[in-house]
Amino acid sequence: MLKPGATIGILGGGQLGRMLAIAAQQLGLNVHIYSPDKDSCAFDVVRSFTRAAYDDEAALARFADSVDVITYEFENVPAKTAAFLAKRQPVFPNPHVLEITQDRLVEKDFVAKLGIGTAPYASVHSASQLAAGIEKVGLPAVLKTLRMGYDGKGQTKIAKGGDANAAWRSLKNEPCILEGFVNFEREVSVVAARSADGHVECFETTENEHRDHILHISKVPAKVTPELDAEARKIATRIGKAFDYVGVYAVEMFVVRKGKTKTVLVNEIAPRVHNSGHWTIDGATVSQFEQHIRAVAGWPLAKPQRLGKRVEMTNLIGAEANDAGHWLTTPGASLHLYGKGDARPGRKMGHVTRVWPVK
Ligand code: AMP
Repeated sequence: MLKPGATIGILGGGQLGRMLAIAAQQLGLNVHIYSPDKDSCAFDVVRSFTRAAYDDEAALARFADSVDVITYEFENVPAKTAAFLAKRQPVFPNPHVLEITQDRLVEKDFVAKLGIGTAPYASVHSASQLAAGIEKVGLPAVLKTLRMGYDGKGQTKIAKGGDANAAWRSLKNEPCILEGFVNFEREVSVVAARSADGHVECFETTENEHRDHILHISKVPAKVTPELDAEARKIATRIGKAFDYVGVYAVEMFVVRKGKTKTVLVNEIAPRVHNSGHWTIDGATVSQFEQHIRAVAGWPLAKPQRLGKRVEMTNLIGAEANDAGHWLTTPGASLHLYGKGDARPGRKMGHVTRVWPVK
């Protein structure tokens, strides 16, 4: 168990690292951010940071020497970097989790092996495999590159009667996964925290709406029955256990009809704090960021409770952040801006959380 004054090293310097650092400081812990990107908005809120490449072993070794434990704020940390660091300091979650979640096919196989439902899927490494994949999962379908996809990047929908080969060419013939298109009723996620002793605390199931493939709004309570909420949390808990996970992770799911009832299919696992958990900063008794810090520091997890009858988080994308002033005086609203310079289209610049009090 880390003592106050100890230092947590975080790989990655975006808004998630920034909010993790703020949560750590609230608990009297220090943070050292490591990021190759000079525009890292997490650098602005910490006492120490390293700007160096992920393969700069001298810089990585100095970083490891200066911290007590290491974690990350994004899942595409190179496996070699994580392995190098794990020889020097405890790394949470364990780097094995990265190997699974960095590859959509390995991740889907992992989920399916647990007996948890997913969209039908097939591996596509060649044009003939693409044709066989379409036979298996049908059309419409979504073709996704195995690696490095986020916010809808590296994926394309193939309509019924659509040109599948053109879709594959548009993804540069990279290794892909083909997924049957899920006619979902809504999208939800469970953000969960797991401590080293195996204790799990889930936030309640959150409902998510996307716009232009980017998360737009997250809401609680989600429009799901208590049974479905419990099923979603159970799935998240099982996944955490199977990973022997330490820290916060998110499981994105589709709500689908199953006969007369409904069930969930797992779409994706994020081995990190997640955008759909931002509402917890203002809308819960503990935030996902604090839960992650507690878990990696070896502290007991809090038992999260929602504040308010309902809570809604809206992302501020690109120029929306320049126009956010009205939120400052909106009742129940809390504005978060990430201090990023350039409000490029599609860039996550901030978010606003609205809490409706229990009357
Ligand atoms: P992903 O990058 O896998 O999280 O996908 C981004 C978004 O694309 C999801 O949140 C869904 O809205 C949509 N999507 C992805 N996969 C599927 C699928 N198999 N069926 C229907 N919609 C999907």
